[in-house]
Amino acid sequence: MLAAGGAESGRVRTGGGGGRLRTGSSLAPGDDFELAPGDDFELAPGDDFELAEGGCVASLARGGTDGGTDVRPEVGRGGEGFFDGFASSAMVLELTPSLKEAKIPRGEAAFRSRALEGVGHAMRWRPMSAPAELLVLRGARALDPARGLDATVDVVVERGRIVRLGPDAGAEPARAERAVVVEAGGRWLLPAFVDLHAHLREPGQEYKEDIASGLSAAAAGGYAHVCAMPNTQPVNDTRAVTEMMVHRAAEHGGPTLHPIAAITKRQEGKELTEMAELRAAGAVAVSDDGVCVMSSAVMRRALEYAKNFDMPVIQHAEDHELTAGADIHEGAISARLGLRGWPRVAEDVIVARDLLLAEYVGARYHVAHLSTRGSARLVREAKGRHIDVTCEVTPHHLLLTDAALLGYDTACKVNPPLREAEDVAALVEALADGTIDAIATDHAPHTPLEKDCELSQAKPGLMGLELCFGLLLGLVGTSGLTLERLVDALSTRPARIAGIDAPSLREGALAEFTLVDPAARWKPENERLRSKSRNTPFMSRELMGKVLLTLARGVVVHDANGGT
Ligand SMILES: [Zn+2]
Repeated sequence: MLAAGGAESGRVRTGGGGGRLRTGSSLAPGDDFELAPGDDFELAPGDDFELAEGGCVASLARGGTDGGTDVRPEVGRGGEGFFDGFASSAMVLELTPSLKEAKIPRGEAAFRSRALEGVGHAMRWRPMSAPAELLVLRGARALDPARGLDATVDVVVERGRIVRLGPDAGAEPARAERAVVVEAGGRWLLPAFVDLHAHLREPGQEYKEDIASGLSAAAAGGYAHVCAMPNTQPVNDTRAVTEMMVHRAAEHGGPTLHPIAAITKRQEGKELTEMAELRAAGAVAVSDDGVCVMSSAVMRRALEYAKNFDMPVIQHAEDHELTAGADIHEGAISARLGLRGWPRVAEDVIVARDLLLAEYVGARYHVAHLSTRGSARLVREAKGRHIDVTCEVTPHHLLLTDAALLGYDTACKVNPPLREAEDVAALVEALADGTIDAIATDHAPHTPLEKDCELSQAKPGLMGLELCFGLLLGLVGTSGLTLERLVDALSTRPARIAGIDAPSLREGALAEFTLVDPAARWKPENERLRSKSRNTPFMSRELMGKVLLTLARGVVVHDANGGT
């Protein structure tokens, strides 16, 4: 049996005549064996095999002189006929790491290799996207606040892991023929980002976004992990939806998706979901985001129940009775525009109540998209009293005020609404001093149809995965925010909140990092954005700092320049 490389390994069962591993070990018919990425496995003509648990998608690559065209059948669509017509070819089994828990029914994933009879062929097993075999980054400024690291170093990635990190550590590996070398002088290497709050719209609203496009956008934004909110159609309140999302993400093969399941069934605020099952299926937290859990009794039970599974309860803090009919923040601007306002206190009263409940129950509580100075003060006080509370802020609440709505710009309609300058100042200060733990995008894609209408009709939300870092780098140096705190808030802290292994720049770690050019200036409108939607007021803003390269799970998931 070959060594299995953790998450990136899988299992194949041979049928018929058995098989042979290129490493020399031979297999008897029916043997189970495990392969690590890059291990080769050969079958003799007429041999058959099937894919067992471990989960993988088969594909056929035209090998050798034919080039590398990949054909990727759907899971369950493999079959003899599929391989017909490919003369000189190599079969490539592409493993999707997260599928190891998705349990593809054996029969569905099984296929036979007989169609390859009489052709020279080799079998190869590799992850959905090949791990960086030997990637050498030279002379980057590596910054990992969790490790106190800020130094100019080389980083060597071999088969998906950081194997060396230090000054000149890449000099020798860079000479290897198979090495891909990136001259990274003047670039910053950061632990890859973790988004606690994104709406990927699948299932149900794939016309706005789907898991594949959302994860591609995340990769382009420097993210290795994305937590997806449950207000899909149907709502992610069952094991089946959670599993489907994990499965779809694994098929895509980009950043890792972590579903956030609903607190209550259908997000109706009444009956709790089966959190034990949802946790087991891959959910990392619970939230009814989009609506607030209004009932104190339900919120109390949710905190008590989620505590058993060490999941944070994420609240969309909005007293709906105080915000009925509101489109924007309640203040001078709403009065001037003649629009009904969403007062700060509608957020503050819920946060205050929930903090009392969290303290009483002794459970983990997290405030989504905190938007008011009052909530920031409440969280600061609660942390001072050691209540187990964390919170997040969005880029738009750090950058814009309700004055952006003076022209009735629907792109600026968001929930909670853009506030006033004093809130923005308080949020930046709270982020800088760590009261606000994390930056979350609240990526909320919508189509033009849902935004090119009257303000009152427009859907709230804006897309943000690709823009977040470029929007926020400008805050460093112009406010109290340090670069270390920015990176911490984008990566380490949100990972901890979601219980995800935090991306880390150290030898032995899985390669999950992003390489950015801090000097780059760019406008979203001039870019090929990966998201399906374009609803952002920042489309023509000049952003600062650009993501060049992102690795997630040891795999290159974004490469702005190509060829890495
Ligand atoms: Zn929300």
